[in-house]
Amino acid sequence: MAHRITEECTYCGACEPECPVSAITAGEMIYIIDEASCIDCIGWHNEASCVEVCPVDSIIIV
Ligand code: SF4
Repeated sequence: MAHRITEECTYCGACEPECPVSAITAGEMIYIIDEASCIDCIGWHNEASCVEVCPVDSIIIV
């Protein structure tokens, strides 16, 4: 599995510094998760740290 940022993203940037594996980068319109790098925060946090901080709940599991 991995996490994905949807079109609901408001480009606030809150998630980017929270990712323990630096899988989140700024795209042109929304932030993007490198799904090959995302480890669902396993071994780091009980909940995905990006999901925890997203103010508009725009991060889903894929
Ligand atoms: Fe990074 Fe964790 Fe979000 Fe995956 S779930 S993108 S590892 S913060």
